[in-house]
Amino acid sequence: MSIELKKVTKYFGDFPAVYDVSFAVNEGELVALLGPSGSGKTTVLRLIAGLETPDRGEIYIRGKKVNNIPVQQRNIGFVFQSYALFKSMTVFENIAFGLKIKKWKKTEIEQRVKELFELLDLKGLEERFPHQLSGGQRQRVAIARALAPKPNVLLLDEPFGAVDAKIRQELREWLVHLHHDVNVTTIFVTHDQEEAMEVASRIVIFSKGCLEQIGTPRDVYENPVNEFVARFVGVMNVLELVVTNGVARIGELEFPPHGLIDGQKLRIGFRPYAVNVSSDPNRYRYKAILRHTYFLGIMLRLELELPSGIVIKARMSKEEYNSLGLQDGKEVSFEIKQYRILSKEGNQLSEEIPAV
Ligand code: ADP
Ligand code: MG
Repeated sequence: MSIELKKVTKYFGDFPAVYDVSFAVNEGELVALLGPSGSGKTTVLRLIAGLETPDRGEIYIRGKKVNNIPVQQRNIGFVFQSYALFKSMTVFENIAFGLKIKKWKKTEIEQRVKELFELLDLKGLEERFPHQLSGGQRQRVAIARALAPKPNVLLLDEPFGAVDAKIRQELREWLVHLHHDVNVTTIFVTHDQEEAMEVASRIVIFSKGCLEQIGTPRDVYENPVNEFVARFVGVMNVLELVVTNGVARIGELEFPPHGLIDGQKLRIGFRPYAVNVSSDPNRYRYKAILRHTYFLGIMLRLELELPSGIVIKARMSKEEYNSLGLQDGKEVSFEIKQYRILSKEGNQLSEEIPAV
């Protein structure tokens, strides 16, 4: 185990920014901390780095309790979104900086920086100053600088937050390759669920300072433990039903009453992939108009509007879309294959229930 948090709590005043958080990261793993802004992600990183001390709980790095070990002795590399490079130093000097502080020999520094230039694809930029670099190059230099002293752990706090979408995508792929080559234990913070799914082997999901779920991207997507996770990771249709005449319904949609009696409310959720769509308006039970198609690469997202005005999100591949001859404005029919019951408190999800 490379990093372990045991029941860690951190208050700012009487506000619990991180509450009773426990998780472990394996040696060499790349884990993402995911959650909305203000959920405590940065505070968790700062606790691991030693920039904050926990009020309760323990933090271990490679089996050693580090609660009272200062930041300089934890051998951690970090890159924060706002952690700018030294403006008056060249790229070479920026990367060498931490090694000079640690009093590495000149030849060793040169050797290490050369290695990093190869590894991080920075060759030719040695003598440039930060203002002569693109946003993507700057973040790669910042990561090179963090990696230079061979840290036990690399902490990245929204490192690609400030670069534009296309470069961001390239940097994600680059990070996955880099991690594959360097294999240093890495914790990557993001509020972007797609980014977390793409880069990490496991995702730790936070909400309001609490750890909601930890699992592989597939796990958290397919088996969310609660409504927060279900809605935060991936797209989810959520409907509030009322039981009338022994059936739970909203508009024209009907579901079994699940033990509730007339007048009681029930919330259900289903993923867009759980919706079957046909261009034959009579094929499935419910009729709708295809209001809008979002082209998201190979998968498309469809918005279906029922006569009552309810909008349902569905998805399909481009091939299926073309073979069905679909286009916006067309009348379609659909069915919902399976769904989950979301409890009112948002803390309990049912198993997936087949609906057809
Ligand atoms: P995230 O990185 O997920 O956006 P943070 O860890 O930065 O969240 O913050 C979690 C909560 O703690 C927020 O409500 C934030 O306002 C609060 N917070 C963070 N740092 C401090 C601080 N130094 N003093 C007071 N409150 C803080
Ligand atoms: Mg943050």
